[in-house]
Amino acid sequence: MTEPGGLATPRAAPETRRAARAMREEAERRARATASVPAVTPSGPLSTAPLSPVLSPTPPPVTGTARPSAATRRAARAAQLLDADEQTPAPHHAGPRRVTRRIAVIAGLGVGAVLLMGSAAMTAMMLPAASDGGADAALSLRAQPPTIEQLPVPQMEQSPPSADICTIPEISAALQAGDDEAVIIAAGGGEAFRAAVVDGRAPCIDLGDSARTWTVIDKVRPANPIDYRPAGLLSPPGVRNLEGGALRTDAASALASLAAAAQSAGAGEIALESGFRSYETQQETYGRHHSERGEGADQVSARPGYSEHQLGLSADVVACAGACGTLDELAGSPQGQWIAAHAWEHGWIVRYVEGATPVTGYLPEPWHLRYVGPELAKAYHDGGWTSLEEFFALPPAPAYVG
Ligand SMILES: [Zn+2]
Repeated sequence: MTEPGGLATPRAAPETRRAARAMREEAERRARATASVPAVTPSGPLSTAPLSPVLSPTPPPVTGTARPSAATRRAARAAQLLDADEQTPAPHHAGPRRVTRRIAVIAGLGVGAVLLMGSAAMTAMMLPAASDGGADAALSLRAQPPTIEQLPVPQMEQSPPSADICTIPEISAALQAGDDEAVIIAAGGGEAFRAAVVDGRAPCIDLGDSARTWTVIDKVRPANPIDYRPAGLLSPPGVRNLEGGALRTDAASALASLAAAAQSAGAGEIALESGFRSYETQQETYGRHHSERGEGADQVSARPGYSEHQLGLSADVVACAGACGTLDELAGSPQGQWIAAHAWEHGWIVRYVEGATPVTGYLPEPWHLRYVGPELAKAYHDGGWTSLEEFFALPPAPAYVG
């Protein structure tokens, strides 16, 4: 698969410094303009006068949303997975995460940290002003520090966080074309897309649209319409298909890619046990359970309209070595281990994992994969997320309402 690019790429330090210098010069220019306005100069401490107008419109860093807990989630996830393979992608992504943390720290420390970062340049800039002497020099000296302090240097590594991504022409076009992956790429990648949705900067993105790879369906968010049926369904090419199941075309080729990669890696054969299930099929299944168990049916079967399988984006997979094992046996197999570590590389996430039951409403199902596309799967993996609900900052869905 292609390596998703975009936001996570750490900027080179010189680039950042150049950008910072440009910002500093701009701020300095603004400060001079501000200082030349008589109304501002005499009022109050100069350190606060120019500070607020520039600082207030500065939005929080994109990564600020739900980021603080990502590290915690990741640590918990790492402990759960106990997967040596997890070490492989780690160095690749460690850079961006470190950068992100640094952004958070710097943003938190604000003034002090930026002062430290730019101390050399600042010293060089301030010394001549201090040695100039006279009223003008004193004024500029007093006016300058706050303008330097307020420079949003770390935030420059993010795309403009205040922008409504739906105004981007490429996004409108991709939405219309039904090319979900292109939408996300145009938004700046999976994490930028997620942040835009969470921050309310993506009014054209509907998480309840059952035809989109980013849709969330759970016990409080049914399919829309309730008997939704995906347009294109396909048996995954080259994948053993135990029940003759189908998946949406994009998910079908992604499962083929996943199964082939597992084979190549020596993990063994992965087969599809169950893919798309129609509203009508689920009606029969749930009805059967309900007649046998009453309310207890909810523990073993999704209600019609509430199953992720109805999207054509979910696959229950099993491990085969000659004969195929059961769903329950997947987790203990080399294939299950490989899936836990690598499914994301092919656009899949393990939808129901240990510890997320209060959020997803489902016990762990290591065999139930959900296709979200390469960009979102990468962001999900990199952020250490354990549920789509939390990924998109949605309220938990522990049980049906009524
Ligand atoms: Zn399933």
